[in-house]
Amino acid sequence: MKSSPFDYHRPESLAEALSLFAEWGEEARALAGGQSLVPMLAMRLARPAVVVDLARIPELRGVARTAGGWRIGTMTREVELERVAGLPPIIAAAISHIGHFQIRTQGTVGGSLVHLDPAGEWPALSMLLEATLELASSRGSRRLSAREFALAPMLAALEPDELLVAVELPDCGGPFGFEEVERRPGDFALVGAACHGASVVAFGTGRVPQRLTGCEAHMAAGGGSGLELRKLAEDEMEAHGDIHASAAYRRQVGARLVERVVGAAAAA
Ligand SMILES: Cc1cc2nc3c(=O)[nH]c(=O)nc-3n(C[C@H](O)[C@H](O)[C@H](O)COP(=O)(O)OP(=O)(O)OC[C@H]3O[C@@H](n4cnc5c(N)ncnc54)[C@H](O)[C@@H]3O)c2cc1C
Repeated sequence: MKSSPFDYHRPESLAEALSLFAEWGEEARALAGGQSLVPMLAMRLARPAVVVDLARIPELRGVARTAGGWRIGTMTREVELERVAGLPPIIAAAISHIGHFQIRTQGTVGGSLVHLDPAGEWPALSMLLEATLELASSRGSRRLSAREFALAPMLAALEPDELLVAVELPDCGGPFGFEEVERRPGDFALVGAACHGASVVAFGTGRVPQRLTGCEAHMAAGGGSGLELRKLAEDEMEAHGDIHASAAYRRQVGARLVERVVGAAAAA
């Protein structure tokens, strides 16, 4: 199938891009790495009148150390992060699970966050590490927490005239655990879990990545990995079934992964 016709723009600055979104609103769609948008266009699941290619906007690129952590421009390709010295190791561990190398050479951090696949690694990382998302429109800019941003599967809290500009991560070195189950290497996770510090997240299980606050409370009270933690995870995990796996499978395997990532973080 071919996409429906659209006008193509390749602005050279953020201001120019934002004025296109101010003009076209819901009829415009941002093109980042195209790894999700291009198939959606080809299948006519997206039929924008205007596609705005963000590739030439310098303000949207780059990784910088900040006073409190890291600022990653939305158009930073996933593969670029594998080469940034000093980035917290949990990021490289998570990114290595995103598709294949070829996909990571095109896919961007922001594209992944906005696309909000429930099994995506970046939405899970953003929730786990309590990232802040910087949004901009020609009306101004605002910041949202990852929880505020992730409304539903493939539904981010962006207004039609807004772009995601960057993601800010706090200092997030230190021990962690990150595991997922996928049918083949490079596939989206059927189920995943990650632990960093006192935070635990499950992904691929429910509508959006889920912080497991009951498990976190268990750990804060001195509880460790083991049967009790696994039962807590099973009880609180929002699991859904689809053609790839049943809800019961996701809950059971997800709880086992929680036990493993918490154990790995404790042992590190
Ligand atoms: C075979 C295959 C396997 C994959 N496996 C995985 C996987 O295991 N894990 C995983 O997480 N992902 C996986 N992906 C998806 C990949 O990570 C994509 O990079 C990601 O989903 C979208 O990023 P993108 O830069 O390609 O965005 P695009 O496809 O260009 O855009 C995605 C969506 O985000 C919007 N958008 C993009 N940037 C902005 C912005 N700055 N502001 C506002 N809106 C924006 C677009 O309009 C579009 O709606 C896979 C993809 C393929 C093709």
